[in-house]
Amino acid sequence: MTGEETTAVIGPEGLAALVRVLVARGRTVIGPTVRDGAIVLAELTDGDDLPYGWGVELEAGHYRVRPREDGAAFAHSAGPQSWKTYLHPQRERQWSADRGPDGAWAVTEDDTPPPSYAFLGVRPCDLRAIAVQDRVLAGGPHSDSRYRARRERAFLVAVECTEPGATCFCTSMGTGPAVDGGYDLALTEVVDGGGHRFWARSGSDEGASVLAELPRQPDDPSVATTARERVDAAAGRMGRTMPEVDLQVLMRETLHADRWNDVAARCLTCGNCTMACPTCFCTSAEDVTDLTGDHAERWRRWESCFDLEFTHLPGGPVRATGHSRYRQWATHKLGTWYDQFGSSGCVGCGRCIVWCPVGIDITEEAHALHAERAAGGAQGEATA
Ligand code: SF4
Ligand code: SF4
Repeated sequence: MTGEETTAVIGPEGLAALVRVLVARGRTVIGPTVRDGAIVLAELTDGDDLPYGWGVELEAGHYRVRPREDGAAFAHSAGPQSWKTYLHPQRERQWSADRGPDGAWAVTEDDTPPPSYAFLGVRPCDLRAIAVQDRVLAGGPHSDSRYRARRERAFLVAVECTEPGATCFCTSMGTGPAVDGGYDLALTEVVDGGGHRFWARSGSDEGASVLAELPRQPDDPSVATTARERVDAAAGRMGRTMPEVDLQVLMRETLHADRWNDVAARCLTCGNCTMACPTCFCTSAEDVTDLTGDHAERWRRWESCFDLEFTHLPGGPVRATGHSRYRQWATHKLGTWYDQFGSSGCVGCGRCIVWCPVGIDITEEAHALHAERAAGGAQGEATA
């Protein structure tokens, strides 16, 4: 942010205008919409596409959309996808190669310019997840140029949370439910006797210029006050919590806990948790040819540390058991991510809890590990 923060009160007509203004500026607007029984992220061309009047019911291994009487647009928490679907796509061709008549190969890099995305409805936890992926994919000396190009062009409209889900624990992870920067525009929704309004404020010069184009409602300081109160109240209504201990140390000191056997007996090693997680970033490369053998392509696709191939070496997979693979995933998220990237790899969005087919809950596992350590178990060094 280089200029002053500007604020405004807008209504649903202002939100519809926001979509139009962003589209008119050449942006592909992505936001939440109801489709196939879920609130998914998809391209929006109209404000009416937003999930007005829909909420969600979340539990471990359980997701349902539910109608709401208040007509709110953002009274739902994390859905099955996250913004990595767009910034770090699931499958991406990197190059193709064609054999010419003389037998020589011509390699063509896939360098289509990325769309200029506008993400509408980025939750505070997901804003932090994007920051985590920025650090991983664009922060080091060997950054991912495609990720960086998409990220640098993206316009982020954050929406603070007033309705945490039963599987949310951003308060424990220090990532929400309020936003504290990293957005172009921030909105907080207030639906009450005074009407349906959004307290909007800019976080960048482009955000201020977009906000200036939106129709406003009369200035009413009570909207900002109510918005703050709703977000503060949401912080006290999280569905889940993490144990109030240093999670990095907890992971390090419980590598031999019995609890890992318990979770291994339930885990299907399906990898859903890694696909749904907004910070998981691993990929693998696949080379394919057509039947003639004259055309070849390299594709990059998401990979999961639950996949046996993930650690396959000449002698076989390094992590051959479900026990070692779940432990690797959880201890990386909550512990060794700090050593590698200086932050937690978990932002408390709860997706891995909801989309685990057997309802494995990372907060429940952390509490169980904490209890086992407190009872004097779980000592020792790690093995694969
Ligand atoms: S580990 Fe689970 S709760 Fe944490 S960021 Fe990933 S999906 Fe969300
Ligand atoms: S924890 Fe759940 S979602 Fe993750 S691999 Fe195991 S069964 Fe699949």
